[in-house]
Amino acid sequence: MAKRDYYEVLGVQKNATKDEIKKAYRKLAVQYHPDKNPGNKEAEEKFKEATSAYEVLGDDEKKAAYDQFGFSGVEGMSGGQDFSQTFRGFEDIFGGDFSNFSSIFDMFTGGGGKRYSGGSGIRRGENLRYDMEISFKDAVFGAKVEIQYTHNEMCASCKGSGAANGSNKKVCPNCKGSGQVRHSQGFFTMASTCLTCGGEGYINEHPCKQCDGACVQKKRQKLVVTIPAGVENGKKVVIPKQGNAGVNGGPAGDLYVFIHVKPHEYFERHDHDLYCAVPISITQAALGAEIRVSTLDDKTIKVKIPPGSQNGKMLRVRDEGVPSGNFFGDLYIKLVVKTPEKLSRRSRELLEEISKIEGETEAPQPIPLSDLS
Ligand SMILES: [Zn+2]
Ligand SMILES: [Zn+2]
Repeated sequence: MAKRDYYEVLGVQKNATKDEIKKAYRKLAVQYHPDKNPGNKEAEEKFKEATSAYEVLGDDEKKAAYDQFGFSGVEGMSGGQDFSQTFRGFEDIFGGDFSNFSSIFDMFTGGGGKRYSGGSGIRRGENLRYDMEISFKDAVFGAKVEIQYTHNEMCASCKGSGAANGSNKKVCPNCKGSGQVRHSQGFFTMASTCLTCGGEGYINEHPCKQCDGACVQKKRQKLVVTIPAGVENGKKVVIPKQGNAGVNGGPAGDLYVFIHVKPHEYFERHDHDLYCAVPISITQAALGAEIRVSTLDDKTIKVKIPPGSQNGKMLRVRDEGVPSGNFFGDLYIKLVVKTPEKLSRRSRELLEEISKIEGETEAPQPIPLSDLS
């Protein structure tokens, strides 16, 4: 099923305020909440759809990525994240109207409610985003670019356990390690986050002094990113496991490098073809010629201008375009016929002679504007 635009899903305008987005989502979530529509698959789908939309539009960073790049901009951004964050957000939205979040959580994870409850405390690290500006030429031919960024690395002192050397974390006596406490209210069994351990499922009695129990530490790192030849503006390069480190042995998140291509002074690109324009003289246009043209990779190629070429004529040079796998796009050269602004005495004489040969021309008939290129 094709994904619907997030703004459309929530029924808000692109310029909606944070509050309007929140209100729109709240309305839909109340309407389609699974507790109100038991066994109704359609309502469940609508609820999921609205929640996914709110996850993005309710978050400034994700919203900006979505506005700029659409779905591809936020692809994977929420994938590794702990859903519990979103569902904690629910309490804020519903003011505690719905506390049975675990059923909703199961819906998203296919029953893997363990991540909400914490329990083992294993968490995947967050994906990170890096915005990289590259030259037009590097985008066409590919490049290796060194970047520097800050991410969370596993704490070397406690090896990511968060506990001081030699000590162990204790299973939380209140929730027995599940991270949740359950209590019945009417028909429902409510589950809420265990307050004793904050949903982690264990208690860290002797936190590591280096990371203060966080299991990770911020670190600046250098990385060489390989830009594939032919990359398009707005595309991303995913570097696995170079995002934030996971917690308690969870896997690291990925680094998303978003590519922004600077425009070129002379060349333009459409898909895999390159376009440029070269000036030629009226005699070259009339008589034909062989000219030299500089390509994007600073080669000089010979190009034949056929006799009688009109202003705006496009010449195609095969395989001088953008590489893609094992083929290349083409280079299109637009001929721009320049009429001389100053003439030498000799040139003037010769042109006057041509003019005499041509004789008095009759009044020319108009031609369609579309014939001009
Ligand atoms: Zn540590
Ligand atoms: Zn607990």
